[in-house]
Formats: sequence, C-alpha cells, structure tokens
Amino acid sequence: MAKDYKCPACQNEVDRAATVCSNPVCRANLAFCSHCRDVTTYTLAEKGEGRLGRDKFKCARCERLGVKCLTWLVGGYCNGLARANDPGARGMDKPLCSACNDRVGEVGRSVISWSLIGAVGGLLRPKR
Ligand SMILES: [Zn+2]
Ligand SMILES: [Zn+2]
Ligand SMILES: [Zn+2]
Repeated sequence: MAKDYKCPACQNEVDRAATVCSNPVCRANLAFCSHCRDVTTYTLAEKGEGRLGRDKFKCARCERLGVKCLTWLVGGYCNGLARANDPGARGMDKPLCSACNDRVGEVGRSVISWSLIGAVGGLLRPKR
C-alpha cells in the first residue's frame, strides 16, 4: 500500500518524488534512496571523476552510497539515488535508480524512455 514518506530532517510529510522538502522552514534536499527505498536527505560523499564520473552521495538513512539517477541528471521527473558500485555491476555505477529501472522495463515505448536511452547511449545496456 501507499507508504507515507517523511522528510528525515523535520518529519514533515513529503511526496515520494520530492527533491526539496515542502516545509518552508526546512527546505532540505531530498532524494529517493534505492537502497532503503525511502525518501532521505543526502550529503556529498565523493566527487565524480572523469568523463563518466558522477558525484556520489551518502544516504542519511542507510549511509550507503548512491549516485543521482540519469533521469534526474537529464532533467526528467525523478529524484532517485541509484546504487553506486553495486556488486555484480563490475564496479560500474547503476545509471538508473530502482524506480526508473522498473519504468524503463514497463513502458519501453514511452517518449521519455527513448529520449533518455538516446541521451545515455552506450552507458545503458538493457539486460537482454
Ligand atoms: Zn524537511
Ligand atoms: Zn538509503
Ligand atoms: Zn530515476
């Protein structure tokens, strides 16, 4: 069932897809963590290096590392933190957060998915 998401900084109820807390006295930056599947605040943990390097962020809830989902980076409707350095991905960061992975699988024909795949190019390798 629909879960209530709360800003970890002020306990205000926030939207699952909010990037900023709606509480005017808080305004914390929010993201949806793919590890703990909850809305969280985050801090910069590591600067991205190289052409494909993305900044790594630490989830305030589970303290695991994530990178901003590519959908988010290209301006799409997403606030997901994809898992960084997922074992099994051979050290490569996952380009998409869990929510976008699901969406790409389900709605492969949507305009957003295709323009995203175009923008991401070789980075995104579908699993089949
Ligand atoms: Zn807040
Ligand atoms: Zn987390
Ligand atoms: Zn995403």
